[in-house]
Amino acid sequence: MPMTMVDSFGRMVTGLRIALTHRCNLKCIYCHHEGELEPEREIPAEMVASIAKAAADLGVRSLKFTGGEPLLRKDLADLISQMPDGLEVSLTTNGILLARQAHDLADAGLDRVNVSLDSLRPETYSAITGCKEGDMQKVLAGIKASNDEGLAPIKMNVVVLKKNEAEVPEMIEFCRQKGLILQLIELLDLKGLGISGDIDGIERKLQAMADSVKTREMHRRKKYFLDGAEVEVVRPMDNTEFCANCTRLRVTSDGKIKPCLLRNDNLIEIATCDCEKIKDLLLAANARREPYFTAKFDSSRNQS
Ligand code: SAM
Repeated sequence: MPMTMVDSFGRMVTGLRIALTHRCNLKCIYCHHEGELEPEREIPAEMVASIAKAAADLGVRSLKFTGGEPLLRKDLADLISQMPDGLEVSLTTNGILLARQAHDLADAGLDRVNVSLDSLRPETYSAITGCKEGDMQKVLAGIKASNDEGLAPIKMNVVVLKKNEAEVPEMIEFCRQKGLILQLIELLDLKGLGISGDIDGIERKLQAMADSVKTREMHRRKKYFLDGAEVEVVRPMDNTEFCANCTRLRVTSDGKIKPCLLRNDNLIEIATCDCEKIKDLLLAANARREPYFTAKFDSSRNQS
């Protein structure tokens, strides 16, 4: 029987999220930078390959590359080709560079993509991401190329903001037509910006309109099915159920294992490419896992 990572709260780690770089070609107004502090180096490809192998040996079944913007890594396709067999490999990208890379990434063994697209209106998209209005077309081309390459199911990630909440019906229709899953994400308002959209209200409408609702194992995320469209809602804030069902470990872009998105006081530095040593570090990180939001959540506990 293969070894697994089950923490002291009975939660098994089945997913690993690796930030490949802190660099990004957008400046989203809300970005949490995957909870990273300013890094001093970028994780080398050889280390990523060893981490993936160690994690797979410990029962991890899915690996997601993130950033920063992972498509800025010149060695991305090569890196993907080194991932162990049997691991689902996906990435989350802003999609700007996706059209020209989708073929090589699929060839290298990428299974699927999440594309962040916070608005279908060029002006709003530009106001949220800080890019030129025309850049939204690049993201749409990236989604099309990913579809053509079979990098599916493709999820369209939308952080629900005051600026885009009115667009949700259009987004549902867009995703229905393109065969995408719409993933509505609650804003983690770490900077106290006060720009969150009304995700409660949106979820109430989805509940009322849905033909059926499913609850995913990970984070107990709700999935709403509406006349051929699929909408997943991700709500981490103050959500004890979300934390109680967290099945993830993270690795930062400078090679530290991060047991929780919202904490930086329990990281474990990797600093080796030796797979056996990395397994010990993953097990040590698993031992540090604890739900952030609990029934007796202490609101004075902020990320450091
Ligand atoms: N650049 C890639 C992208 O745009 O998908 C990967 C990195 S980005 C940090 C990963 C995901 O986190 C994106 O879907 C983004 O919208 C989401 N995200 C970033 N900051 C967030 C925040 N404060 N609250 C909720 N989601 C956030």
